[in-house]
Amino acid sequence: MTARKDDNRQRSVWSRIASTLGLAPRQDGTATTARSSAPQSSGTPSRKRKAAIAVSIALGLTAAAGFGGTYYVKANTVSYYHLYKDGTELGTVDSPEAVEELLALKKEEAARENPGVDMELETGSLTYEPASGFKAVPDTEATLDKLEKQIAFYAVGVEIKVEGEVIGVVKDKATAERVLQRVQGEYAPELVMPEVMNVRPMSYNANGKADASSPESASQKSVSPKSNREVKQVKFVEDVDTQSAKVQPTEIVDEETMYKTIVSGSEAETTYTVQPGDCVGCIAEKFDIDKQVIYDNNPWIKNDMIKVGDVLDLTVREPKINVETVERLTKTVETKPDYVVRENDEMRVGESKVISEGIKGISELTYKQVKRNGVLVSSELVSTVVIKPSSPKIVMKGTKVVRGEGTGNFEYPVSGATLTSKFGKRWGRLHKGIDLVGDSTIKAADEGVVEFAGVKSGYGNVVIINHRNGYKTLYAHLSSYSVAEGEIVEKGDPIGIMGNTGRSFGTHLHFEIHKNGVVQNPLDYL
Ligand SMILES: [Zn+2]
Repeated sequence: MTARKDDNRQRSVWSRIASTLGLAPRQDGTATTARSSAPQSSGTPSRKRKAAIAVSIALGLTAAAGFGGTYYVKANTVSYYHLYKDGTELGTVDSPEAVEELLALKKEEAARENPGVDMELETGSLTYEPASGFKAVPDTEATLDKLEKQIAFYAVGVEIKVEGEVIGVVKDKATAERVLQRVQGEYAPELVMPEVMNVRPMSYNANGKADASSPESASQKSVSPKSNREVKQVKFVEDVDTQSAKVQPTEIVDEETMYKTIVSGSEAETTYTVQPGDCVGCIAEKFDIDKQVIYDNNPWIKNDMIKVGDVLDLTVREPKINVETVERLTKTVETKPDYVVRENDEMRVGESKVISEGIKGISELTYKQVKRNGVLVSSELVSTVVIKPSSPKIVMKGTKVVRGEGTGNFEYPVSGATLTSKFGKRWGRLHKGIDLVGDSTIKAADEGVVEFAGVKSGYGNVVIINHRNGYKTLYAHLSSYSVAEGEIVEKGDPIGIMGNTGRSFGTHLHFEIHKNGVVQNPLDYL
């Protein structure tokens, strides 16, 4: 602004003051004390109006009647004021109102030039000293010009301080609080005043990406039955403070800018257009940033595939303020049945049997989770509530050790046996065993190892068991056998089915007992 323009502006300010106060500007720009015939503006204080009218009446009377002497002097005595700024005189003025009017105009002008900003004047301390003189003409305009040149402006803003350091200035406390609440609200919408979360047209998440989710979805997120997550506490990690401060109007940023500065560290985004020969790693190196920043900012990149012309977001975001939340996470989980083993000494070692498959239970697990900017920092299981208990899977396991050694005590190989032929001389030959009929299942007479299972001349299908104690038993004429050589059998184990194979006349079992290679009369042992 040139000096001339400045001068013009001041003159126009003065003319406006003069007209408001009812002072008619003279041709040379100096106001007279003559009462203007224009009607008083309604905004003029009545005190001022009365004073002006009094002067006007006094002048009129003087002119009409021409009274002389003391009356004339009195009528021509003009009251005015010396104006002091910080104790130094600036000059004389008609009235304090003229000064106040100037200040009001200046403030109005500042407000107009800085819309939305709370502007204040820096006037220093202004004091008045009343004075009066015969036909005195106070130098109001010059004084006001002088004052105007000394008036400074400042904006009243609210600084947001992080760890004592100012990170930005907004226009007022309400704006500062709203911005800070939005920052917390990103991670704890249910703990932040709903109107704060609702008024914003868009939100920016910690990655600075516009999130068009509506306020409704934000509030649904917290009560969704799928996610039993509840934010219990929210706080800033840093020491965050707000303070009103005198600043230059240009220092004040709008709410959105302040918000972005806080969550991303800066409002400026860095983008880069892929050039021929570029690769993700090369670009990271070129910009001296972590490759992960590129992946995080540009989730569309798959398998490092980028092509010439692709625009990458390379903004390194470091939030100025970090938000810590304490959340309670409740999860319903299935619990596996316990595994219970029951020993059974009637079952052989290695054998097992599932008695009960067991039933899964349901438990509710509650975790206390601490997150920073939504990223899990710690998780602690605080309680487990059994909703439905599981029932155990029960498995029976055998403990009986079987070595294939007989006890020396024999039992009948046939249940419900009937003796049909005894041991001894028969038809001129030795009958080496006894013949039995009864239940068709043939059982081992004592524990032992199968020494032979097959066909022998005259015996047909035959099983021989070595009891490893000097005794062997033989089971002949079987229609089939169900054991193999080397197999350990216990007393009473089924080994085959009664039959009529070999030299046999009718289905029966031919049963022999040998002791150290000598046939015995089985009836002596049964
Ligand atoms: Zn026989």
